[in-house]
Amino acid sequence: MKQSIYGLTFDQLTDWILEHGEKKFRAKQVWDWLYQKRVTDFSQMKNVNQSLIDLLESHFTLGTLTEEIKQESQDGTIKFLFKLADGNVIETVLMRFNYGLSVCVTTQVGCNIGCSFCASGILSKSRDLTSGEIVEQIMQVQHHLDTQGKDERVSHIVVMGIGEPFDNYDNLMDFLRVVNDQKGLSIGARHITVSTSGIAPKMYDFADEGIQVNLALSIHAPNNDLRSKIMKINKAYPLEKLMPAIDYYLEKTNRRITFEYILLKDVNDHKEEAEQLANLLKDKRHLSYVNLIPYNPVADHPYDRSEKEAILTFYQTLMDRGIKCGVRTEHGTDIDAACGQLRSKQIEKEKARKKKKLQNS
Ligand code: SAH
Ligand code: SF4
Repeated sequence: MKQSIYGLTFDQLTDWILEHGEKKFRAKQVWDWLYQKRVTDFSQMKNVNQSLIDLLESHFTLGTLTEEIKQESQDGTIKFLFKLADGNVIETVLMRFNYGLSVCVTTQVGCNIGCSFCASGILSKSRDLTSGEIVEQIMQVQHHLDTQGKDERVSHIVVMGIGEPFDNYDNLMDFLRVVNDQKGLSIGARHITVSTSGIAPKMYDFADEGIQVNLALSIHAPNNDLRSKIMKINKAYPLEKLMPAIDYYLEKTNRRITFEYILLKDVNDHKEEAEQLANLLKDKRHLSYVNLIPYNPVADHPYDRSEKEAILTFYQTLMDRGIKCGVRTEHGTDIDAACGQLRSKQIEKEKARKKKKLQNS
């Protein structure tokens, strides 16, 4: 199967071009066609020599993702469901903010971390996405914007779709290098956020990368008992392993970490937990921001969304203790835009269709 050209970083493309007997400056030209002019066919690369176009065509593809569904919400959020070359489906979301256009990308087909509140966790991981498949999600969205003719650009990226990015670390890093490349899409590192469930060893690696990409940590509970109950990853990387990794990251990068905290009714939304969380973060308050996330109910999951009152009390308790925080505003709730929801619905539909087909045969 042909490889996606979007999987190559600029340096890898340059090496490939040199190895195939072409001149170095060709890499810059091809890169420009891919990410500045954003062609959808190799033959559109006008100033590239035909022999290189033929060579590229025989080795690479410009598209392994096909759009299955595109749902647009009233608030302008667009949810894309893409089919991969092997038939798996993934989802990508475009959100509009006053500061720009942000895309939420998927990094794996399913997720093995298995958090008890997450729609993605129900379907265990079948494979990692390649770096090309992650970059292509951005390109597909950008191509969609290009066809609208409004000169809109993807300006922000959140790696918060299905999957654990630090469980697909090398492909994640290649993806970040491609989208951040100044000769290409040039999406600023400070405009990119990677969210992890807390794979501590990789947090050390990420701190050592020397890039300005933001880190978000899904903390969701302020003590091991509760955290292990809702996130089984906490058994492998409990708070006594996680907190030193956070400290290392903060010391090394001096960059703020966002702590994500899903509020689950009567589970982790008591004042007591807010106090514990404030305590846990008190020595790093200057570099912490807590993002309180109203839970998006998932079918067959035992949780409910916290009451408004509880959300406010939680927020106020943190603020009173000097912890900066905010409550996440929701996007596209009318179109299943929450993590993994459209995909799991689609998979359910597929299953029902197959079952019906079996019954009828
Ligand atoms: N695996 C990574 C990134 C993807 S999940 C991680 O867990 O951080 C991105 C965020 O969406 C996480 O903070 C996750 O906890 C949250 N999330 C998952 N299911 C959710 C739901 N049903 N409602 C609200 N947020 C959810
Ligand atoms: Fe995986 Fe993140 Fe969902 Fe947990 S919350 S199951 S780590 S995608």
